[in-house]
Amino acid sequence: MGDRIVYADNAATTPVCPAALKAMMPYFSEQYGNPSAMYSFGAETKSDVENARKRIAKCLNARSNEVFYTSGGTEADNWALWGAAEKQKSRGGHIITTMAEHSAVYKTCQRMESLGYTVTYLPIDKDGQVSCEALENAMQDDTVLVSIMMANNEIGTIYPIKELCAIAHRHKALFHTDAVQAVGHIPVDVRELGVDMLSLSAHKFGGPKGMGALFIKMGLLLPPLLTGGGQERGLRSGTTNAPGAMGMAAALENACQNLGPNTEKVQALRDELIDGMLKIDGARLTGDAENRLPGIASFLFEGLEHPPLVATLGEAGIYASAGSSCSAGSGDPSRILLAMGYSGDVAMSSLRFSLGEQNTQEDVDYILAQMPLALEAVRAKGAHTKILFH
Ligand code: PLP
Repeated sequence: MGDRIVYADNAATTPVCPAALKAMMPYFSEQYGNPSAMYSFGAETKSDVENARKRIAKCLNARSNEVFYTSGGTEADNWALWGAAEKQKSRGGHIITTMAEHSAVYKTCQRMESLGYTVTYLPIDKDGQVSCEALENAMQDDTVLVSIMMANNEIGTIYPIKELCAIAHRHKALFHTDAVQAVGHIPVDVRELGVDMLSLSAHKFGGPKGMGALFIKMGLLLPPLLTGGGQERGLRSGTTNAPGAMGMAAALENACQNLGPNTEKVQALRDELIDGMLKIDGARLTGDAENRLPGIASFLFEGLEHPPLVATLGEAGIYASAGSSCSAGSGDPSRILLAMGYSGDVAMSSLRFSLGEQNTQEDVDYILAQMPLALEAVRAKGAHTKILFH
């Protein structure tokens, strides 16, 4: 292995940005008071945490009383789904989601099905896209919730949330979007989108892990997922993660302030990576070529399997992934690629690079130089599949 390290797995997690780290530090040490405490030591932290909420809300064009802190994207997604279903149980128990969702939504829907809810999983096409027509056709009188992600974590496809949300609302259903991969990377304006609930996660945009938020539109009065001490206005119990809130606010402000130039830079690197990669024999781009997150470049490599490919790149100091960080370790083909129509063998050859603001031209050059060597090494080891693309 050489000296060079290229971190190209920013969709899995990002490094904490300097502004977020600086903002968090005092709340680990001198300002450790519990924000719910009655004395001034806690009250100061509470006021800072509330100010952070205001700043986060501003970045999303939300009101500060519409932002609720959570332990991350997974909890925000779970809360949106269980909360919306519970709130509307007298109206019915039909939920619509898609085959493209992250497990935090997909597996929650499966669990809800096992408990008596009915769930429609909208199909996705070869680009991983969902059609508005399919949603329109799936709406029923008892549909209480539609949950569709804003951008896909494996293939980078961006979904037409505003249009999908309008369809759900025409049929009197609530609309939730998992915007974990979108926030901080593309413009996200809750008023413009019209959504009722939106999930975000700090570690995807330069904030700390284990910190996120759920936007809940004013007046929705979603029941809590976690009950206990009554923090977050009684809707999300658990001692407030003050350093997390401060870090998330700083990271989000930083990401939103630099959105234009960062998008331009990251997108240019991504496009160069895609162009170079597609020159390799047998390489194929996955996901929507147009409506795509700025940093995600995902591929299939004819005849190969991703575990040895990811490991071989890792030996060269290139950190990429097979797709979602969750399915990557399982040794199974990606459920999303299967839903896009790829066979299991082909889906096993997936490789995702997710670039961030810290990546450079030299990083892309290095990846493109190392890739043919890694492919050759993997093929030489005989770690390949038999079935080619269909
Ligand atoms: N939703 C999407 C689209 C994600 O990519 C992830 C993380 O990979 C999550 C939800 C879960 O977020 P967290 O890691 O904060 O629980």
